[in-house]
Amino acid sequence: MAESRERGSMDRTGAFRYRAEAGHRCGAFPRTRPRRGNGRRMRSTLSTTRRDFLRFAALSPAVAMLVAARAEARALFPDRAAATPAGGPSPGRPTPLEVRRGERLLVVAPHPDDETIAAGGLMQRVIERGGTALVVLVTAGDGFVDAVVREYRTGHPKPAQYIAYGERRVGESKAALRALDPEAIDLELLGFPDGGLDGLLRTHWERSNPSRSRTTGASDPPYDDEALAPNLPYDGTDLRRELGRIVRAARPSMVVLPDPLDTHPDHHAASVFTLLAVGDWHRDMPSSGHATTKLLSYLVHWPAWPPEWDRRAPSPEDARMPLWLPEGVVASGAPTTWLELDDAEIARKRTAMNHYVSQQAVSAAYLAAFVRRTEPFRRLGETEVKAAFARVPADDAKARVRTASR
Ligand SMILES: [Zn+2]
Repeated sequence: MAESRERGSMDRTGAFRYRAEAGHRCGAFPRTRPRRGNGRRMRSTLSTTRRDFLRFAALSPAVAMLVAARAEARALFPDRAAATPAGGPSPGRPTPLEVRRGERLLVVAPHPDDETIAAGGLMQRVIERGGTALVVLVTAGDGFVDAVVREYRTGHPKPAQYIAYGERRVGESKAALRALDPEAIDLELLGFPDGGLDGLLRTHWERSNPSRSRTTGASDPPYDDEALAPNLPYDGTDLRRELGRIVRAARPSMVVLPDPLDTHPDHHAASVFTLLAVGDWHRDMPSSGHATTKLLSYLVHWPAWPPEWDRRAPSPEDARMPLWLPEGVVASGAPTTWLELDDAEIARKRTAMNHYVSQQAVSAAYLAAFVRRTEPFRRLGETEVKAAFARVPADDAKARVRTASR
């Protein structure tokens, strides 16, 4: 999603703030995040010694965090061999992305337009090679306060106006996907709160304590005709479960998800929820062939990135240039990979991007900066997944470990 838009979806308390003038989409992460379930499953296999250790661990936030992160990472990578898909590159070595015939691609987008920013070219390539593509919009992008204020020329937009804005943005995503391929890309809307995904991790994990959107006022998706499950409460457990249902049905060979290092809280949270959901799939269906599922993460928000993000007059010629991940992300580990787009794929991606009319109005240069010769990704392995979960604060991990050791 574009910077200006997500600037509008920020926490009104100022917990994080994007500064367009400085080129920074910097987000300060809240200090605490929530409990992640599944303790019951762990409990059944615990030895007495392990219980003792976990009781001890509950006293130590750092150890507790490590234990919880490892438990989730193990679900995704039950053995180390699975961390590198068969025939894949060795860790750390950048190689171009291989798109095989019949890939099943799942793209998780926190906001409408992230899907095309990240994988507008990849979706075309997968379809062209006889595969399938499914996009999941976690939110409708209905938290962009500045844009709604501007659109309705009021300092205090009503919830209905935010919902109308979200409906418009979902329509733009549909039009964009049709531009990439007239009929082959499926779209599902979850309709969770824009600007509130991090809060689900942090404080609204349980169904008994759902979150409430700061803009639409809703506690479940206010898109009865569009959302996959309009009555699903805004809580982390339900989001994890719903994503898990989607993953199990899709049986993806490729999951394209936000990078856990993305500085936008919604993107980071969507990344963690997706990894949890994929881990649940692996754990519940151990013989479903997921050992070769590729986890490809994409970046949208990073300080002073992508290059030319603020260029006053973007030119189609810019698309000849490749886009690479910033050094700070590459240096953090995980092999990088990329898809090189041909001219026709670039042209269709540009056309698709133009369908995000509401975002073009406020972030044209930013969107254009992602229409490039390459789409870069990190291939997440066990180390990166552990690191993503380890960023969930210790109080959550402690609660999780306490549950497991009861
Ligand atoms: Zn976004």
